[in-house]
Amino acid sequence: MADSTKKTTAAPPEVDRVAASRAAVAARRARAAVKAAVADGSRSPLDVLREAYEAPEGVEGRLRGTEFLTSIPAIGATKTARIMDELEISTSKRLGGLGRLQRRRLRQFVADWVASHGGTGDRLVVLAGPTAVGKGTVASYIRRHHPDVRLSVSATTRPPRPGEVEGEHYYFVSDAEFDRMVGAGELLEWATVHNASRYGTPRRPVEEAIASGDSVLLEIDIQGARSVRRAMPEATLVFLLPPSWEELVRRLVGRGTESPAEQQRRLETARVELAAVEEFDHQVVNVDVGEAAQKVVDLMRPRKGRR
Ligand code: 5GP
Repeated sequence: MADSTKKTTAAPPEVDRVAASRAAVAARRARAAVKAAVADGSRSPLDVLREAYEAPEGVEGRLRGTEFLTSIPAIGATKTARIMDELEISTSKRLGGLGRLQRRRLRQFVADWVASHGGTGDRLVVLAGPTAVGKGTVASYIRRHHPDVRLSVSATTRPPRPGEVEGEHYYFVSDAEFDRMVGAGELLEWATVHNASRYGTPRRPVEEAIASGDSVLLEIDIQGARSVRRAMPEATLVFLLPPSWEELVRRLVGRGTESPAEQQRRLETARVELAAVEEFDHQVVNVDVGEAAQKVVDLMRPRKGRR
């Protein structure tokens, strides 16, 4: 009896050890595959960072910062040591274990690197933020004052508001047409906003603008910004903040375009949305529309001299 107990308690650790070492080998292989994909250019290092930040215990999250950097073409061991030092990240740190500011510094460094090595870099900028923060107003200001910036025109199933022009503010489409666009892969991203209508970014104009060297600005909601990061990891995400919560409420109610029930629904969305600010590369506080617009446009310019 005592013997058999011994046997049963002795056996699992051996099995565990074998399983653990198999798992360790598999994890090492998976990390090596990630590094190889970055090294041969088939995967953007920005996509690796996105995944590492989203899932710190996943394969990408378990990569050391040093291993990650050395896998990027043309960054060798010496450069890696210098970069880690500049970014104030210890060489033993894994990507998933970086602090908030370290994450941001590393992403910015890699985005700059990619941009200066032939990537789309700053050319795709996503402006997101909570409802009623003034994204639309900032976007319109940019449209009027910075004609070199191309603004993506979204498709939506919401009916037009007075004064809205088809093809300028939105492409107003039926549910059936939106379904068709989704099915045909014509949208770069899409989301149901405020549990009501669907909105999506037509893919072709964005890709064409980037290919021809133009800058494109997407003014979309936060779920959309996350989808763009997945689809195009080089995109720069900008979060527009209100000067205060009270000001946000005032703007939403003052706008008077929504019913009280709709206002309430949008405020609830805004509260959740504000919490997403940390996922963004830059934050711009919308005190003055012209100044906020200028800050967004500056982020779309070549990064020379910015670092
Ligand atoms: P509104 O109905 O006030 O014009 O816009 C409602 C929300 O939809 C805004 O937060 C706006 O940023 C977002 N939105 C507009 N176009 C798109 C889009 O193409 N994709 C996504 N995900 N959100 C969008």
